[in-house]
Amino acid sequence: MKKLQMVDLRSQYLSIKDEIDRGIQEVIDSCAFINGPAVQSFQKSLEGYLGVKHVIPCANGTDALQVAMMALNLKPGDEVITTSFTFIATAEVIALLQLTPVLVDVDPGTFNIDPKAIERAITPKTRAIVPVHLFGQTAPMEEIMEIAGKHNLYVIEDNCQAIGSDYFFTDGSKKKSGTIGHIGCTSFFPSKNLGCYGDGGAIFTNDDNLAKQMRVVVNHGMTVRYYHDYVGVNSRLDSIQAAILNVKLPLLDEYAARRRAAADFYDMAFSNHPKLNTPVRYARSSHVFHQYTLVTKNVDRKALIEHLSSKEIPAMIYYPVPLHLQKAYLNPRYKPGDFPVTEHLCETVFSLPMHTELDQEQLTYITQNVLDFLNQ
Ligand SMILES: *Cc1c(COP(=O)(O)O)cnc(C)c1O
Repeated sequence: MKKLQMVDLRSQYLSIKDEIDRGIQEVIDSCAFINGPAVQSFQKSLEGYLGVKHVIPCANGTDALQVAMMALNLKPGDEVITTSFTFIATAEVIALLQLTPVLVDVDPGTFNIDPKAIERAITPKTRAIVPVHLFGQTAPMEEIMEIAGKHNLYVIEDNCQAIGSDYFFTDGSKKKSGTIGHIGCTSFFPSKNLGCYGDGGAIFTNDDNLAKQMRVVVNHGMTVRYYHDYVGVNSRLDSIQAAILNVKLPLLDEYAARRRAAADFYDMAFSNHPKLNTPVRYARSSHVFHQYTLVTKNVDRKALIEHLSSKEIPAMIYYPVPLHLQKAYLNPRYKPGDFPVTEHLCETVFSLPMHTELDQEQLTYITQNVLDFLNQ
């Protein structure tokens, strides 16, 4: 059996090696390392794939979120609502810009931000909402956009884990995750669903003015060469990374299908088990399974993970600590017990290997060992 990993980047690379190697070599031969043709063509292809007017490539997903927030012209103390159950980057950029992250709880089934909790958290200082499409499923965007419209708020989608996911509106139409709010942000970190071989990210918008402003922000706040009208940053996608993404973007839907097949296999093994909740599939979104995350019930999670580890099966906890209980974010506003769903998830979830290269033998071995532990 092939060695088990949370993400098997090597096997995936070997399956596309010739094209990847050729793409990288072309960039080196051309020496167009910065903003070369590979970056332009990737931008165009991603705009086409997402059905969005503007894609602005940048250096990573965290920058994408920061640049989005910088373009909105918010003032210190303005409040930005986001989820308490996410990777730290989401709240980090809010805090870095001296905005106030206002956290809200999540839905226990989908793990995504709860629109009712958003509505309760709105104050006269609220300026924006940052839903995170956690683990590969789009948050309830229709409800979120309705709330945002009612209160005149911006919506920035953290789409770092859900690129390729479709969102289905009640009128029957659909859009790609990350293209529904005012701005969408993604990451091309190697283990993400569309990963490059280093750092990379992108911002999406259908708004011409926001696009213009964000293109200025990523380029040192420069409007005309060496004239800087704004305080900006330097955030670019490398040409070499773009060349890799040009090979992988056409495969993204196939990759999502393979992740779904692995998730179906896991679901089949675990869905009736009294000690596990399998991930809920939200009816309004397709699931691209960035992670396959189970909720345990009355299980010694540490012992389970140790058991799996002894069988050379990796398992991870995304995320062990809620944002409101992170040391850097401990705030007189928050205390343990404030977000019971998030806190319960942090104590009970675990994620199994999830990637494009899992085979039946591996999946059988993983599920069997999980069940052995639970049934002992
Ligand atoms: C990965 C990730 C980020 C940050 O992306 P980087 O490219 O690592 O900066 C932000 N938000 C979420 C939800 C992520 O999963």
